[in-house]
Amino acid sequence: MTVDNQALDAKDMSRLTVATLQPAPLHTGEDMTEDDVHRHIAEAIIDRRLPPGTKLVEQNLAGIFSVSRARVRSALTRLAHEKMVTVEPNRGARVASPSVEEAKQVFEARRLIEDGIVRAAAAKMTDPARARLEAHMAAEADAHLRRDRHAVIRLSGDFHLLLAEIAGNDVLMDFLRELVSRSSLVIAVYERPGATDCSHHGHDALLERLIARDVDGAAASMADHMDEIADSLDLTSHREDGVDLKRVFSDILKDSP
Ligand SMILES: [Zn+2]
Repeated sequence: MTVDNQALDAKDMSRLTVATLQPAPLHTGEDMTEDDVHRHIAEAIIDRRLPPGTKLVEQNLAGIFSVSRARVRSALTRLAHEKMVTVEPNRGARVASPSVEEAKQVFEARRLIEDGIVRAAAAKMTDPARARLEAHMAAEADAHLRRDRHAVIRLSGDFHLLLAEIAGNDVLMDFLRELVSRSSLVIAVYERPGATDCSHHGHDALLERLIARDVDGAAASMADHMDEIADSLDLTSHREDGVDLKRVFSDILKDSP
């Protein structure tokens, strides 16, 4: 890993800490930094407003965000390092569309990492950590109630990242952040119609065992939860939808001068 990458990762980490419960304000218009562009696109990929296969045309994005093409290009390069975007010579950038093999590997890796994280989190549970988890669960319940699908997806990933934060291992946190993003892409491509992501119910069962500081119990709940997500996938069919970039980022367009 280069020094530059480490610097970016450190920035990501602090942003994530804030974003878990209270999203940091994003700049709009000409103040938009490469970080902002990166985060706007990353969040839209993770919460599936931008489905796998979507063409990310540099010039269009530069127009939408009112920034230079160079700024968009560096954000896309970073997303390519994070495996959320693929960049092909002469064909440009697209939201990554994981293969069946990659989908299996992402979930295998996630199972291993989540096991380590949930055990460490259960062993390190404190009253403040419990309060944060409960606040998070309330936010998830609220998003379900409002039927805000994108918020539900984002919050269900954040739940797992919050556990990594409680576990207090930055290296595991880093691995998990990439795996959560990549899982979201896998689910977008292979989800059975009508299946739900990370169920709120699965998180409830986990929380109960975490609060009890039941390390093995929490690990068993996490394994069940991972099975539940894997069962919601159909690795025999591949889905790709087209979207309109302008429509996805219309809130940003609206705020731009
Ligand atoms: Zn989950």
